[in-house]
Amino acid sequence: MPHVVTQACCADASCVYACPVNCIHPTPDEPDFLTSEMLYIDPATCVDCGACVSACPVGAIVPGHRIEPQDERYLEINAAHYEDVDVAQSPVRFPVDARLRLPLAPISKPKPIEIPGGGDIRVAIVGSGPSAMYAADELLRHPNVYVTMYERLDKPFGLARYGVAPDHLSTRKVMALFDEIARNNRLDILVRSEVGRDIALDDLRRDFHGVIYAGGAKTDRRLDIPGIELENVASATEFVGWYNGHPDFADRAFDLSHRKVVVIGNGNVALDVARILTSDPEDLASTSISPVALAALRNSKVEEVLVVARRGAADAAFTLPELVGLADRGANVTVDPELLAPELLASAGTSDDPTISAKLEILAELSQRPTQSGPVIRFGFLRSPQEITANADGSAAGVTFGINRLDPLRGGVEPVGETETVEAGLVLTSIGYKGVEVPGLPFDGARGVIPNAGGRVVDGDTPITGVYVTGWIKRGPSGFIGTNKSDSAETVAQLRADLEAGLLSVPTPVASPRRRLGRALAR
Ligand code: NAP
Repeated sequence: MPHVVTQACCADASCVYACPVNCIHPTPDEPDFLTSEMLYIDPATCVDCGACVSACPVGAIVPGHRIEPQDERYLEINAAHYEDVDVAQSPVRFPVDARLRLPLAPISKPKPIEIPGGGDIRVAIVGSGPSAMYAADELLRHPNVYVTMYERLDKPFGLARYGVAPDHLSTRKVMALFDEIARNNRLDILVRSEVGRDIALDDLRRDFHGVIYAGGAKTDRRLDIPGIELENVASATEFVGWYNGHPDFADRAFDLSHRKVVVIGNGNVALDVARILTSDPEDLASTSISPVALAALRNSKVEEVLVVARRGAADAAFTLPELVGLADRGANVTVDPELLAPELLASAGTSDDPTISAKLEILAELSQRPTQSGPVIRFGFLRSPQEITANADGSAAGVTFGINRLDPLRGGVEPVGETETVEAGLVLTSIGYKGVEVPGLPFDGARGVIPNAGGRVVDGDTPITGVYVTGWIKRGPSGFIGTNKSDSAETVAQLRADLEAGLLSVPTPVASPRRRLGRALAR
C-alpha cells in the first residue's frame, strides 16, 4: 500500500529528493509549490520503499497499511491531488514511466566554493529560526564555508521553538534536524547577541564575506478598529509566545475567566490558539507548553472560542491538513449554522479545487456533528470586525461585526449593511505576522519585507553588496517551516554566485566574533 503524507507536512521537500520514483509533488521547482497546502504522494507510482519516511524531518509520512484511523482522510487527500490530471498538459513532471525518470536532485559531492584568491569563506546569519538553519545547512555543504549565527534570545531556532504549538509534537521534531545542523563545527550560534544592539550590521558587513538577514516577521499585523486598545484584547502572536514560553511574552497575563473568546482571522495560527484554549490541560501537561500558561489553562473558564473570518468558507485561510487534524483528532469543533456561509452546504464537494472541496465537505460535516461537553470551537464566516465594545471598566465586552455576503459576480464578499455584536471576554486578533524595519536596510513597509531579488537585498534596482535575506522577512509570512529550505537555497545560490564572481571580500585577519562579543554558544 502506498505511503501517505499527513498533517505535520512541513514542505521542506526532503522527501521529494529522497523518492526514487518522483512520486511526491509539488516539487520545489513546480509552479504550485509555494501555494500548495502540503505535499502529496501519488498512490499510483509510489513503490512503497519508505525512503521518504527516513527523509522527512517531522514524521509526517506513514506507510498506508499502518495509518491510524484519525489520519485515514489523508489517503484520499493524497490521491485526490493526482485525480483528473492531464499528464501531457500538466507542469508537474509525472513519472509516466518511472524507469525513464531523470534524477530530480542529483546529490553533488560537497566541494569548496571557489573564490578569486582562494581561501575560507565567512558568512554571518542574523537570526537562528528555520530559514536561518536551512541557510546554514546549505552553506555548510561547502567545506570552506564558516558560519556565525547571531541570535538575540538565549535559545536558538526561533519560530520552530516559540511559534509551533506545543501539541504539534511532530512539527516540533524539526528541532532535532536543527540540532543536527547546529552540531557542525563550522557553525557558531552566538546567543544573547542582537545585531543592532550588541553588534552593528556594518561590522558584520566588514568582517564577513556575506550577511544573510533571517530575522523573520517579528510582529503582528495590527487590526485598526475602535476598541483594539481595550484590556483583554491581544494578538495571537502574543498569546502563542506566552504559551510557548517566549521570553518577550513571559510577563503577559491572559484573562481566561470569561466564558467566551473571539479569535479574529481563521489562518492556521487562529486554529492553534483556538485548539490550545479548548484542549484538556492534562493533555498539554506532557508537552513543552509554558508552566505559567498550563496553570492558567487549568483554571480557565472558557467555554467557547469563536473563530471568525471576513470571507466565506471556500476562502478559509487555514490549510486542509490542519482542518483534518482538528476534525479527526477529537477536537470539539462545530460550524454554527447561523454563521455558516450560505454557499457552504450547497457547494461542498463541487469545487474544482480538491483542497477547497475537501475543506467544504469537512466543514459541512462539522456543522452536523453534535458537540461534546467541554469547551467548543465554533467557526464563523462572512463577518468583518468593526469594533470591540467595552465594559465600564475598560475591558472587552464583545465584538461588533459587519455581515457580508458572497459577491458571485466579482468574487469576494460585499457588506449587506447589517451588523451583529457577539459577547467576548477575551479577543485575540490573528490576522497575520509582519516584518519590522531593520535600521540600515531598505524596507517595504506595506509588505513588511526587505526588498530583494531572489534573496539579494536591493535598494530600488541597486543590489546592496554582500547583504541577503531569507525566510519571512524575504517573502512575507507565508508557507510552512520547510518552505524555508528551498527559499534559503535560493538565497545561498545568489551569495555563492557573488562570491564566485569576486564581488565579496573581507580584510584578513578578522577578530573572532565569538571572542569579540564574549557570547555564549548555543551548543
Ligand atoms: P494567515 O494564514 O495569513 O491568516 C490571516 C487571517 O487573518 C485570514 O483569515 C485573513 O482573512 C485574516 N485577516 C487579515 N486581515 C484582516 C482584517 N483586516 N480583518 C479581518 N480579518 C483579517 O496568517 P497566520 O494564521 O498568522 O499564518 C501565517 C503563516 O504561518 C501561514 O502561512 C500559515 O499556514 C503558517 N502556519 C502554519 C501552521 C501549521 O502548519 N501548523 C501553524 C501556524 C502558522 P483573509 O483571508 O480574508 O485575508
